[in-house]
Amino acid sequence: MLQFKDDDLYIDQVKLYEIAVKYGTSVYVYSKNQIVQNIENYKKALKNKDGFICFACKTNSNATILKNISKLGVGADVTSGGEIYRCLHAGFDPLKIVYAGVGKTEEEIEYALKNKVLMFNVESFEELDLINKVADKVKIKAKISFRINPYVDPETHDYVVTGKKGTKFGIPYKDALKAYLYAKKKKNIIISGIHSHIGSQILKIAPFELAAQKIKRIVNEVEKNGMKLEYINCGGGLGIEYEKSQKAPSPEKLVSKVLQIFDVFYKNKKFIFEPGRSIIANAGHLLTKVIYRKISDKKNFLITDAGMNDLIRPTLYKAYHEIIPIKKINTKKVKTDVVGPICESGDFMGKDVMLPLIDQGEYLLITCAGAYGASMSSQYNSRPLIAEVLVENDKIVLIRKRASYNDLLLNEV
Ligand SMILES: *Cc1c(COP(=O)(O)O)cnc(C)c1O
Repeated sequence: MLQFKDDDLYIDQVKLYEIAVKYGTSVYVYSKNQIVQNIENYKKALKNKDGFICFACKTNSNATILKNISKLGVGADVTSGGEIYRCLHAGFDPLKIVYAGVGKTEEEIEYALKNKVLMFNVESFEELDLINKVADKVKIKAKISFRINPYVDPETHDYVVTGKKGTKFGIPYKDALKAYLYAKKKKNIIISGIHSHIGSQILKIAPFELAAQKIKRIVNEVEKNGMKLEYINCGGGLGIEYEKSQKAPSPEKLVSKVLQIFDVFYKNKKFIFEPGRSIIANAGHLLTKVIYRKISDKKNFLITDAGMNDLIRPTLYKAYHEIIPIKKINTKKVKTDVVGPICESGDFMGKDVMLPLIDQGEYLLITCAGAYGASMSSQYNSRPLIAEVLVENDKIVLIRKRASYNDLLLNEV
């Protein structure tokens, strides 16, 4: 949790300035308390219901973050063999790991089966064929859900829409029953549930409700055809308030509204939610130093040591992150572009943001960057991956060392 004490910005009980000096910049900073609170919100929402959440670990897959999350007893939503590996390493119960993704390879399927993940969220007929074949080879039956594309527009950025007609995700709504009937004939497949995930950074409840209604219809149809679904997986996608003007529904509201639609199933089904962003986004921030200032053609630039390789969201999704100086500055505010050092015009953290006059060498916090931040970072421009620290009350724990130049050559022959 961020707050100013006197003129200094703190994350929980730690002064951000102290982190910048001790660990260098740029650096990702996370609040353990915020992560725990965000998960507790979902747990509270699911109290008295038969169900659990699976943290979407593509949002942040740092080993210590995952370990802290697994300790809270929740499951994981994974999208690759690598994520299965990370989650097992972090102590997640494989029986709470669900595996989605449109392009699971044969090796990944075998790895998932041998490690006894709870189920595959299957996204195509050919994928089902391959899972059946691999299951036969390793003599382990595969539990599956179909990921159904319910044709719902979640009204979010095009790149994170997954539940609309014409995306690559899931089984088209109209083919849902056909998929289940197809799976029923497969020897090594155990039909276990149904899944839908319609997109990300969704700020309205209505699309979730619409998807739930459509999924409910399919559940009824499938069960009429003699199959039993044990799990209903409602996916993730709940948005967060990146800007003060945004209003995000609470997890409690999302869960209760969606489960209301499924209430006839309470007695014999388990419910899964797969939040990612709403667990970790507001728990992490990118701390960076202003290296230079310049005025080019009347435009004010602050050039930071964080670049698009560290945080790609602004340029990839035109995402907004509030940027705050970590020392209170009471000058007038001016329109400023906050940009990185990389040789791309798309390398910016914020455009036309109103900031006070900041001196060279001062620090800025790019807020709510805990999701799809570090996990999407790269070494572009041969910039070593940056450090990550976790704050626990008044303690700072280094959870990822800053990579070295030598690391850049790792694996290169
Ligand atoms: C990415 C993803 C999620 C998490 O989405 P958020 O918007 O981060 O909550 C959940 N389920 C699946 C299948 C995903 O791909």
